Amino acid sequence: MADLIAFPTVSSDSNLEMMVYLANRLSHLGARTDLFHDETGHKANLFATLGPDREGGVVLSGHSDVVPAVAEDWSSDPFEMVEREGRLYGRGACDMKGFIAATLAAAEGLDAAALTRPVHFAFTYDEEVGCIGARALVEELARREVRPATAIIGEPTSMRIVEGHKGCCEYTTHFRGCAGHGSQPERGVNAAEYAAAYVGRLLQLRRDLVARAPEGSPFDPPWSTVNVGRIEGGVAHNVIAAHAHVEWETRPVSAADQAFVKRTMAAYVEEELLPAMRSVWPGADISTQTIGEVEGLEPMTENAARRLVAELTGANGAEVVSFGTEAGLFQKLGLAAVVCGPGSIEQAHKPDEYVSLDQLSACLDMLDRLGGRLAA
Ligand SMILES: [Zn+2]
Repeated sequence: MADLIAFPTVSSDSNLEMMVYLANRLSHLGARTDLFHDETGHKANLFATLGPDREGGVVLSGHSDVVPAVAEDWSSDPFEMVEREGRLYGRGACDMKGFIAATLAAAEGLDAAALTRPVHFAFTYDEEVGCIGARALVEELARREVRPATAIIGEPTSMRIVEGHKGCCEYTTHFRGCAGHGSQPERGVNAAEYAAAYVGRLLQLRRDLVARAPEGSPFDPPWSTVNVGRIEGGVAHNVIAAHAHVEWETRPVSAADQAFVKRTMAAYVEEELLPAMRSVWPGADISTQTIGEVEGLEPMTENAARRLVAELTGANGAEVVSFGTEAGLFQKLGLAAVVCGPGSIEQAHKPDEYVSLDQLSACLDMLDRLGGRLAA
């Protein structure tokens, strides 16, 4: 864990050194390892497998990147692990280098030859900026013939089982109109006014989403939400606005709602707004830019990963949380997925981030039992 924290893998920077380190450690143990680079070549995902080359088995997933650390706010160097009073401090201690280190430690204790089902290690880049690496990794896995059965995403949940979280999708919608004098509004195309209409449709959609709340939804609030976070446009009182943009997000409780929101807004643009704008000026346009889409993790009645982790940890029941993770991407691929990892989300993204030794040993216990299970 000290080695991992010493790699300053802030999302904006390269994670390659850490990934090569992890690949070396795992291949020493006999794992088959694959590094998948992004298009810049400065970042990579690592996928490694111990045990037989066959269907099933478990994916242990963690992101390699960390949020930035402002050294002055810390009691010690954020990229040098320090132990104080039963806690290990450092950027990424709970989010998520403690978990990654625990998977390596557990791998060292495994008798790989005895495994009847594989254990996979999925270490990704750019989680903190929209699960970009995991998306690429999941696409890579989709191309493979053999597929793991379950995934444990070791984000900090204090070792409780998390079976659901909403998605989080952020968009910026840009409006291009045609400027003109404010005294003759009909001669121009007012981007700010069309943006206002668009916001009106979003608010109507927000009400429609309330009615779509799934029966027994565990979320708070139980339905998918829409929020308009920022509106900007135009230049002055007396000028027809040529440009405007709206920054908005939706937090869907299901993939179906996510698709519903996108479909509804796209149809509104294509069928109503654009024809109206272009009837005045053909150069008018509306485009929606995706800032980030984190898939939700939908709670399932039947979830093999929940059952497995409950047996391994002795935890009773499962909960939902308000933060997003890579778990939804694995679920979308067809795996049963839960989030369960050492440390608390309360300590993530803060100065003096830590994970307690107690939490790490609970995680190691879970992983050791998992090893035994996969050898049975
Ligand atoms: Zn995280």
